[in-house]
Amino acid sequence: MGVRCKNRCARLAGNYPSCVEDFELIEEMVEKWESLPASDRKPEQQWVIDVVRTLDVIEGQGLLGFWRSHAADSDRILQSFRVTGNSELATALGKSRFCQACIPVPGSSTAPKVMSASDKAQLNRLLFEVTDRIEAARDGLVELLPRADSSGSSDDDQEPATPTLNVEVTERLSCPYCGQSMELVVDTSIAQQRSTTDCEVCCRPFEVILECEPGSVTSLEIEA
Ligand SMILES: [Zn+2]
Repeated sequence: MGVRCKNRCARLAGNYPSCVEDFELIEEMVEKWESLPASDRKPEQQWVIDVVRTLDVIEGQGLLGFWRSHAADSDRILQSFRVTGNSELATALGKSRFCQACIPVPGSSTAPKVMSASDKAQLNRLLFEVTDRIEAARDGLVELLPRADSSGSSDDDQEPATPTLNVEVTERLSCPYCGQSMELVVDTSIAQQRSTTDCEVCCRPFEVILECEPGSVTSLEIEA
C-alpha cells in the first residue's frame, strides 16, 4: 500500500506497480472478454475491446487498414471511442471514412476509386491526428480499470473487475420563464446534445443545449 507507480505520477500501485503492468492487465482482460460470445459481453467490455484492438490495427496498418477490416462495425467502434473519453480521436477517425471508396471490394465489379494527391494528404493529416491521441487513449483505459487492491492480495486468480464508467449524470436547471427548479438526467456519452423540455409547472417549452465529456457535463445552456 502507498507505493506509487514509477511511470504514472498520481497512481497508487497495489497489485499493479507500474503502468506497464496496467497495459498488460488491459491486454489480459481484453483477451478474456474476446473469448466470450459478443452477446455475453457487457457494453463497457466491448468499448475497451473496440478501443484496444482498433488502436492496434491503426498502428499496424494505418487508417486504410482500419476501414478495410471495420467497414461494417465502424459506427459501434466510433461510439466506443466517444464513451471512453476519446471524442476527438473518434471525430478524426470518422473523417477518414472517405478512403473506403479507394479500397477494393473482393468480388465486386466496381473498380475502387484512385486516391488523389489531396485525398492522400488529407488521410495523412487524419492519421497524424489519430496517432497523436493514441497514448492518451490508452492512458484513459487504464483509468477505467479497477483501482489497485489495497489488501495486498497477490492472488491473481481473481477475476478482474469490470471497468465502469458512469455516463449518466443528474443536472439541476431552472425554467427560464417561471424559475421552477428541476432535475435532468443526462447521458454524457453524447458529446453535443440539444433537447426541448416542457416546464413541469408553467408548461412552457425551452431548449437545453449540452456539451458533455463521458461522466460530466462541460456546458449547459438554456434557451427560452
Ligand atoms: Zn416554468
